[in-house]
Amino acid sequence: MNKTMKAAVLRRIGAGLAIETVPRPDPGPGEVLVRVKACGVCHSDLHAVEGDWTPHPTLPLIPGHEVTGHVEALGEGVADFNKGERIGVPWMFWSCGICEFCLQGMETICPRTEATGYSKPGGYAEFMVAPAAFCGHLPEHVDMHAMAPILCAGVTTYRGIKRTGARPGQWLAVIGIGGLGHIAVQYAKAMGLRVAAVDVLTEKLNHAKRLGAEVLIDAREGDPGAALREKSGGGAHGAIVTAVSPRAFEQSVTMLRPAGTVSYIGLPGRDADQIRLSISSIVNSEITVRGSNVGTRQDLNEAIAFAANGLVKADIKTQPLENINAIFARMKKGEITGRVVLDIS
Ligand code: NAD
Ligand code: ZN
Ligand code: ZN
Repeated sequence: MNKTMKAAVLRRIGAGLAIETVPRPDPGPGEVLVRVKACGVCHSDLHAVEGDWTPHPTLPLIPGHEVTGHVEALGEGVADFNKGERIGVPWMFWSCGICEFCLQGMETICPRTEATGYSKPGGYAEFMVAPAAFCGHLPEHVDMHAMAPILCAGVTTYRGIKRTGARPGQWLAVIGIGGLGHIAVQYAKAMGLRVAAVDVLTEKLNHAKRLGAEVLIDAREGDPGAALREKSGGGAHGAIVTAVSPRAFEQSVTMLRPAGTVSYIGLPGRDADQIRLSISSIVNSEITVRGSNVGTRQDLNEAIAFAANGLVKADIKTQPLENINAIFARMKKGEITGRVVLDIS
């Protein structure tokens, strides 16, 4: 008899996830079979199941790309993992390695890339397969549940912060203090930056304060750009936007100091994809607006090292896989502080 596993499966966009018994995958050449221990619930998973992005995910879909687990079996030719070893699977399932972007160390924008839990089955399941060369090695001592969000929220914000060019002692605005943002606050602090946190919910701002943000800005009130410029003595040197509202992307530019850089990370979706920016303020102040998409394998190794060394720790609540639709409903309403991590083991 073929082996089976429990998984949360999306059969139709908008239909929600159903807990099903499905065939357990076998690892192909270069792949590992992962026995999933934990999987974080990223807002991107909600975008996937609701069909917010083009192209839609490959159906039927098993979402989940903040995966930690143990290597259960090795496909042919896998040399850099051993059976039983701790492993993490990120969003970037695979990239081609030979296009002009991969060759420049920009594998995050490889046009042939595959995405875990979007174009390939992910970690909302007892098992998944992934190419060994794109997985992270996790040290023996780490908390596998708290480590899960580092595989997306961690690596993504870490890269986004680096791409602002902000240096120790300078100000970073973190706009959106959700799953990504609350981890971003911690990377920024660990990197020696001063943090101004921006959100539209008091609970999220209080969370940022507990994590070390010095300045808190409620973007619902007055002119948040002016408030941030005043409280940081001239504006933020760097900013990252992890919010799910286009307004936050517009406001971020007004929060910058001249010569500042903002990394756009959030992806509100097709129906909320357009913004208006002031050309003259970008030109006159030599502002840089750039995109930042997950992270390279090197970014992942660095992001994991921060967490493994105790400098960054996701604030998590664990939930069973069966609760996933209710978790999405709460995420939509902004009711989740920190990250929910599915306990799969
Ligand atoms: P989340 O729901 O946990 O957090 C979103 C936060 O944004 C919440 O705290 C919410 O209150 C806040 N927010 C909403 N409107 C705001 C506004 N106008 N101003 C300030 N804050 C506002 O979501 P998450 O898991 O942190 O993901 C955030 C976004 O990042 C999603 O769109 C997700 O798809 C995207 N994402 C992108 C990448 C990438 O590589 N670029 C990677 C992961 C996630
Ligand atoms: Zn994600
Ligand atoms: Zn490529």
